[in-house]
Amino acid sequence: MIDNLEIIQSGKIGNYLNGQIVIPEGAEYQQIISPYTGEVIGQCPLCGRQELDAAMKFGKSVFLAWKNTHIKDRAQVLFRLKHLLENNIDELANLVALECGKLIGEAKAGILKGIEILEYGCSVPNMITGGFQEVSKGISCRLSREPLGVVASITPFNFPHMVPMWTLPIALVCGNSVILKPSEQVPLSSLKLAEMYTKAGLPDGVLNVVHGGAELVGEICDHPDIKAVSFVGSTQVAKAVYTRATASGKQALALGGAKNHLICMPDADPDFSPEQIVNSVTGCAGQRCMAAATLITVGNCDHLIKKMVAYAQSFRLGRDMGAIINRASLSRIENFIDEAMAEGGTLLVDGRNLLPEAVLANSENGNWIGPTIIDNVQPGMAIAREEVFGPVMAIIRVNTLEEAIEIENSNPYGNAAAIFTSSGAPADYVAEHASAGMLGINIGVPVPREPFSFGGWNDSRFGGGDITGQDGINFWTKKKKLTTKWVFPKNPDWMS
Ligand code: NAD
Repeated sequence: MIDNLEIIQSGKIGNYLNGQIVIPEGAEYQQIISPYTGEVIGQCPLCGRQELDAAMKFGKSVFLAWKNTHIKDRAQVLFRLKHLLENNIDELANLVALECGKLIGEAKAGILKGIEILEYGCSVPNMITGGFQEVSKGISCRLSREPLGVVASITPFNFPHMVPMWTLPIALVCGNSVILKPSEQVPLSSLKLAEMYTKAGLPDGVLNVVHGGAELVGEICDHPDIKAVSFVGSTQVAKAVYTRATASGKQALALGGAKNHLICMPDADPDFSPEQIVNSVTGCAGQRCMAAATLITVGNCDHLIKKMVAYAQSFRLGRDMGAIINRASLSRIENFIDEAMAEGGTLLVDGRNLLPEAVLANSENGNWIGPTIIDNVQPGMAIAREEVFGPVMAIIRVNTLEEAIEIENSNPYGNAAAIFTSSGAPADYVAEHASAGMLGINIGVPVPREPFSFGGWNDSRFGGGDITGQDGINFWTKKKKLTTKWVFPKNPDWMS
């Protein structure tokens, strides 16, 4: 439930450069609109090369000093930030909810997940120890990791606080300067986060935030002084960013969209499973890359579907589910439903034309749709193949687990898959055969907890490695190998 939501901005917001908010002169501005009410809550600048260069100037000028700050002192900034985030979680969650339409509870959960990665960042000094070995008599090799320089993180709308927290703690503690380019639809949380890094003691200029859209992303990909780019967003853009950034010699990792499958067996726990399955696709109003929007029932699961329907019908918008990011996304979701109906789907729960009961003034102008369940979907239908990114569950009925896996495997994405069952054998079968990076058994949103890292497969990720965990350390650093000899043999052979 949203409460105490205040409109905190209505004017132009700025970039965050060298520890200060700077309103860019001459930039075009785009309205920031609250999904809850349709009200304009600010104006986001759409910056280009000029503003990026200004941020680069600061990032480059402080890089060496930050790199040369001992890693344990860099980690102290993260420790202090953790306390700041915990102490201000209500305000941060309100901001996330205001700009992206989440429930307060969902917004808090995202912030807490970000704090988990922050805690991982705090422990990086103990894990980045490198290696040392005497490789021949009198000759030693030492491995260490060094920061890359100025790096960039480009983030999507759906987790305005959490996704920046996937990259910032690890990139910063490893000694990089970072340019954060948040989604222009939700720029406020990133600005707040940058201010908190400063309050936590991060030197000015080490983290700069530049706002913008596609043009700025292109400039980041091409910029000769940016050493690495991480991206999280839709598959089409992820692929383009990965291709463009690597073409200009950068290290790149781009996480894309998803189409996750949840396989349900008739023996799934009848009390626990139905709600969990519905929650997977309705959490964050279905706007998360881990939502399992395709339910594949194997055999007769009617008793479970009946409970899912009853549970979905009990939802109250604004209390049990938040809003959709913008009008265009809402129309897109509604089009998927219309098309599925025209192609023979059976509408079990229709969330269209619903409004919150009494949450906020003006909420009738927000972007609302309730949980929607469509039965008898065929694998070839658009709703079964494409990412809907809304609270719409498509049910495909099959007779065997093999058929279910064939459908899952034939999808180009590969973020997550899950099975609900009370038996070990089908669970093992799905764990072995699903083509996805993150799997769940009786868990509808199988986000790995740190230190197990986050990242999918196939068209859900371009580039090697996951975005958090040890892979994050690897991504934001480069290896240096030092070979040393202090003993000088009289008759050296090839190994000495
Ligand atoms: P998006 O691709 O539209 O935008 C992501 C970022 O790219 C934003 O910063 C935006 O400014 C920029 N951008 C948008 N269009 C661009 C273009 N044509 N060229 C260059 N840059 C562009 O994604 P979104 O709508 O903000 O976020 C939702 C998508 O993100 C969904 O597909 C979702 O599955 C995906 N996502 C994936 C993960 C993951 O871990 N795999 C996590 C969160 C979200």
